Amino acid sequence: MNAPRIGLGYDCHRLEVGGDCYIGGVLFDSELAPVGHSDADVLLHAVCDAILGAAGLEDLGTTFSDNDERWRDCSSSVFVEHCMAKISKKSLGLVSLDCVLICDNPIISPQRAAIRQRLSELTQLEIDRINVKGKTTENGDAMRITAQVVALLIES
Ligand SMILES: [Zn+2]
Repeated sequence: MNAPRIGLGYDCHRLEVGGDCYIGGVLFDSELAPVGHSDADVLLHAVCDAILGAAGLEDLGTTFSDNDERWRDCSSSVFVEHCMAKISKKSLGLVSLDCVLICDNPIISPQRAAIRQRLSELTQLEIDRINVKGKTTENGDAMRITAQVVALLIES
């Protein structure tokens, strides 16, 4: 059966002053940067979990364990490439990604096009099949960044 599969990815990181701020594989000029294992790219982590979830595979934390030194300070782009290879092995193809970033800093909109371009390179999807939206916390926690992603897969 050629049924589509949908996956939901969620990730959240604390922001701190200093360090490189990578969001969606794009380096932001920002005083605040997400903190975490690897490069702490909240959007790419949520993209991976959406893809893995849709494919019925183990989640990001299990697949790329924090305790595994191979992934320390590794670019999260590598995780996305691994996930794409995993779904390909299951004869699944990615159809679309819809992403929401929730943070007060940095401002997402100036880099929206660059993030879509980078996601397109990593997933081989056309840009109009990838959406990225920036939202503020509306006076919530300014020292936090959250990403939510929906991925659609079909059997190829
Ligand atoms: Zn993360």
